[in-house]
Amino acid sequence: MDRFGRVHTDLRLSLTDRCNLRCTYCMPAEGLAWLPKDEILGDDEIVRLVRVATERLGITEVRLTGGEPLVRRGLPDLIARLTALDPAPELSITTNGIGLARCATALREAGLSRVNVSLDTLRPERFAAITRRDRLADVLAGLRAAHEAGLDPVKVNAVPVRGVNDDEIADLVAFAVDNGYRMRFIESMPLDAQGAWERDRMVTAEEILERIGERFSLTPVGREDNAPAEEWRIDGTDSVVGVIASVTRPFCGSCDRVRLTADGQLRNCLFATEESDLRALLRGGADDDAVEAAWRSCIGGKARGHAINSEDFRRPDRPMSAIGG
Ligand code: SAM
Ligand code: SF4
Repeated sequence: MDRFGRVHTDLRLSLTDRCNLRCTYCMPAEGLAWLPKDEILGDDEIVRLVRVATERLGITEVRLTGGEPLVRRGLPDLIARLTALDPAPELSITTNGIGLARCATALREAGLSRVNVSLDTLRPERFAAITRRDRLADVLAGLRAAHEAGLDPVKVNAVPVRGVNDDEIADLVAFAVDNGYRMRFIESMPLDAQGAWERDRMVTAEEILERIGERFSLTPVGREDNAPAEEWRIDGTDSVVGVIASVTRPFCGSCDRVRLTADGQLRNCLFATEESDLRALLRGGADDDAVEAAWRSCIGGKARGHAINSEDFRRPDRPMSAIGG
């Protein structure tokens, strides 16, 4: 628990900072200077940290992310080891969906429960322009495979950007309803590696709802537990749509998340400017008590909220892809 009474039960675990796409709102066309391989936590190190987290620190949910988590070798084995822990965390993944068609069943059998697939457009040329790769068909196949493998729910995450894909908001909702996926929109945040984020290009939650409202009638459902998405029932369907309004309606007051980067740095906030070096502890021979103490101290130092909307806002040194979104 932190100083403000928030209890941190949800771990976002980045498995790599590398990615096979280059989404324009995330990283530059040439990619980034990837973390050196020897700095990335190995499977044994990850399993140990998650064991300490579930045994001693109240972590109940782990979401695998990146970079692109599916590019990590041996992912089904790692998932099987994490879900064999006692207590075992509920395990989910956020992925761009490339390669999911091939591995969805293996991931499900290894113990993965849920999946979020990022998809910003249904148009192939536009997909290629946004992600700088012509891979829409792979993502759509990945979504279908996840659904067929019994990953439930399959959520689709989209980041609307003005003048890029904001005219597709209602189309994406219709696509999700028709296919049994759950649509969620995320306000774009100043976490791209290039520092090119512009407030005017962010499509606000209010605008997103207006666009959906032009085609669908919505009934508010509220927030699911401490989830960042506010949800609306899409009348006449058994579907809901969610909006994550990190910028215009921050949910810091109920945040229950802590993040571990692929190189073993614990962060108490997406926007934190400080990190706790758990990798150094592990590789220095620290025992579980010391890891637990460092984790508690990191959470103890968590700020009340992010300051995106204030003059003093300072971007974290790492972009989203190296933190784990
Ligand atoms: N590669 C995976 C994927 O794209 O789903 C996982 C990592 S990605 C950083 C996680 C999520 O962050 C994706 O849904 C992506 O759309 C979102 N994202 C990336 N950059 C963002 C930004 N600047 N603002 C808001 N969301 C962003
Ligand atoms: Fe890769 Fe995900 Fe960033 Fe796109 S949003 S470049 S898929 S890490």
